[in-house]
Amino acid sequence: MNSLEPDPLDIRSTTQADSKREPESKQRKPARLRHREPWETAFGCPRNFLSNRFVYVVISARARGLSVGVNMNPNRECNFDCGYCEVHRGDSIGIGDLDVETMAMELKNTLEMVRSGHLHESPAYSSLPIELLELRHVSLSGDGEPTQAKNFAEAVQAAVHVRALNSEKFFKIVLITNSTGLDRPEVQMGLQHFTKHDEIWAKLDAGTQRYMQLVNRSTVTLEKVLSNILATAKQRPVVIQSLFPLLNGSPPTPVEIDQYAHRLRELKEAGAQIPLVQIYSATRPTPHSECRHLPLNSLSQIARAVRAIAGLNAEVF
Ligand code: SF4
Repeated sequence: MNSLEPDPLDIRSTTQADSKREPESKQRKPARLRHREPWETAFGCPRNFLSNRFVYVVISARARGLSVGVNMNPNRECNFDCGYCEVHRGDSIGIGDLDVETMAMELKNTLEMVRSGHLHESPAYSSLPIELLELRHVSLSGDGEPTQAKNFAEAVQAAVHVRALNSEKFFKIVLITNSTGLDRPEVQMGLQHFTKHDEIWAKLDAGTQRYMQLVNRSTVTLEKVLSNILATAKQRPVVIQSLFPLLNGSPPTPVEIDQYAHRLRELKEAGAQIPLVQIYSATRPTPHSECRHLPLNSLSQIARAVRAIAGLNAEVF
């Protein structure tokens, strides 16, 4: 990302945007003229695998700092083909399946690197404030859909085991999923190892099948996604993640936003526990040139619709 471009991940502007508008005279300088601090650009940086195969670090706006990630799908398999996906699939099949034993060792070493402050010593991170490099969570995510991983339960168990051995500080584990495999027995088994502090962040990008087809480009139906979210969110709180891109220059229509907010309302009324809806847009480079970042004011409008129609807490990132 060019450091003179507007920063879509500027937390200071996005989270305050709806609640309090500054008078015109006090508003920030136009983004093109504004100096950008290193921590601001860090939010747009790609994942860094250090010298690992399966474990990476990333500064994430939605994590509000450092996330240590586990690439649950090094083979890049996903049952979605989102227009905004940053993973280059093409002819490549990635580096095979997840080797849980190696992943656990990498996770342990990476957590130690973070804990000891050695991450801050590496040139890529040395200019960042130390607070930004405090571990926020360990995410189960990666180059594909984690709930499709064959050894999902084994991987969760291994991450939980590493946590148990990490006497320094408890960290939460966050499953970042497109929701499609939450009903798989393998996944259900893995989720039994989650504590009440661990979280599930589930993707919901559309309120109609038609729009889901445009954005997620999958054979999985919206009905299936909604039913998996509902079944899971009746058991434990689920954070909804919704990415709205500018597709071929067009934002989602008002009708689509309305339908999306109504799906959230239906989930809530059916008993889903949804503490937060994260609204954001495409930020990192993607192989699909038709997919661009949706402006902040459009994202804020969507958040307002979620609050007004579904009565849920919504934040723009
Ligand atoms: S669900 Fe995630 S990994 Fe799969 S295509 Fe979409 S963005 Fe990429």
